[in-house]
Amino acid sequence: MKKTRYIFVTGGVASSLGKGVSIASIGALLEARGFKVTIQKMDPYINIDPGTMSPFQHGEVYVTEDGAETDLDLGYYERFTSATLGRENSVSTGQIYHSVISRERRGEYLGRTVQVIPHITNEIKNRILLLSQINTDLDFVLVEIGGTVGDIESVPFLEAIRQFRLDQGVENTMFIHLTLVPSIVDGGEIKTKPTQHSVKELLKHGIQPDILLCRTSSVLDADVKEKISLFCNVAKTRVFSAPDIDYTIYEIPQIFHSENLDKEIVRYFRMENQSGEYLQNLNPMLAKWEQVVDAFKNPQRRVKIAVVGKYMALHDAYRSLYEALTHGGFRRHIAVDFIKIDSEKLEDENYENELKDAQGILIPGGFGERGVEGKLLAIRYARTRKIPFFGICLGMQCAVIEFARNVLNFADAHSTEFSPDTTHPVISLMEEQSSIVNKGGTMRLGAYPTKIREGSLLADCYKVNSVNERHRHRFEFNNKYRQLFEEAGLRLTGLSPDEKLVEAVELDVRTHPFFIGTQYHPEFKSRPLSPHPVFARFIEKSAGL
Ligand code: GLN
Repeated sequence: MKKTRYIFVTGGVASSLGKGVSIASIGALLEARGFKVTIQKMDPYINIDPGTMSPFQHGEVYVTEDGAETDLDLGYYERFTSATLGRENSVSTGQIYHSVISRERRGEYLGRTVQVIPHITNEIKNRILLLSQINTDLDFVLVEIGGTVGDIESVPFLEAIRQFRLDQGVENTMFIHLTLVPSIVDGGEIKTKPTQHSVKELLKHGIQPDILLCRTSSVLDADVKEKISLFCNVAKTRVFSAPDIDYTIYEIPQIFHSENLDKEIVRYFRMENQSGEYLQNLNPMLAKWEQVVDAFKNPQRRVKIAVVGKYMALHDAYRSLYEALTHGGFRRHIAVDFIKIDSEKLEDENYENELKDAQGILIPGGFGERGVEGKLLAIRYARTRKIPFFGICLGMQCAVIEFARNVLNFADAHSTEFSPDTTHPVISLMEEQSSIVNKGGTMRLGAYPTKIREGSLLADCYKVNSVNERHRHRFEFNNKYRQLFEEAGLRLTGLSPDEKLVEAVELDVRTHPFFIGTQYHPEFKSRPLSPHPVFARFIEKSAGL
């Protein structure tokens, strides 16, 4: 069993400083040095998971291979590292209290008073330890403490990591604090006071940061670092800049590396020797990240993709999807520009005008009836004008409904999610879902295999005949209609291995350049260093390649 080291990242001064991307970038650099890492997120909210939260509240719900509905930061962790995360990588206050209270009800505390310290904090510490118990060859467990230091909600987590250091030793634990170093006037004097106060706030909880990562508009100079060092009691070699990026978040591993952040971390843990052995991996790995950044900086062509959905004002609501579309352009150096269209808007206005610049149209997953008719119009437009189309989950279901209405002439065809009494329920509730009443965590979730039909467009994208993709849905293609659709030209080219569930549909490439709908969410498995093949083909076709 390997000795695992623990790195905790807290955030100060303001939220949304990019803690998730920062910790993911540190993970990428440690992996580049050959270490095995995993990353865990501690969310201070009381929900068990974000599965029941509105995307407007929380952004996208990221689904892991094992079917956990998690914070979108786990998406960054998987995109920046090669780790496959699971249920244990996502912890919330709700889960912690749920376990403790359930144990109390079972009488396992043997008459004792159940308290925040030690019962809640022990539970938090156990969740951190669990990762290296499940996976015994981890070199590093990186833990992101959600929220901002000073929030009431994060106090038990801070107390738990303070104790964790006591249990595991200073030499095996590191505290990194991400803070904001603003300048009041653009380009004016840089202000270190908020960082000083934030470190004081951490000190109140008994935590002295070992490393400070300072979010700034540009790289900090030596004087500023010295000042921060002096006031925050952190050696100046351990004060790092996290500057705003020029092109893409995928520059961040290189930026951190150029300031020697990864070197300082291995030095801290006295792992230089070990790292020396591993170091041979670093340069080729960094070169791969460089290629990704290069694809952003020097595109050879651009393509406009319309994303027609429900939560268009919030980029985070479809975070993995936008990332996957962007990755899709890397192979051929295509920059992807998004036309974000609220599908509801297509219902009142001249929808063709809204869509006229789109070279490809994508309908993402979703819930609820709002905007569905607009999505159907966009699909009809893509189908009849032969514009590359990609429908994901609800997007695929809508493609089926559109085809039923306008090709099979079933005028009121619908999903029973929206129209329980339709005469043509082409999308209906999965049988195993019919008796479920609880909303949280009860959908068909996580990775399931799909058999891909030989000779299909999907098979041509994937180059294999079986794939594992992640799901999050309750409704499915209604099997009663299989033959009618096939005969009319919508091919059911992805099926579950037992052939009971339709997982993907497509139009024949002889009639349409690219028209695919998947019941699963391929966006969760796309990584910048290995773009998803279906997204790549969609982007290339949209760009006319
Ligand atoms: N609402 C649809 C269902 O539950 C689609 C879900 C989704 O798009 N993720 O099946």
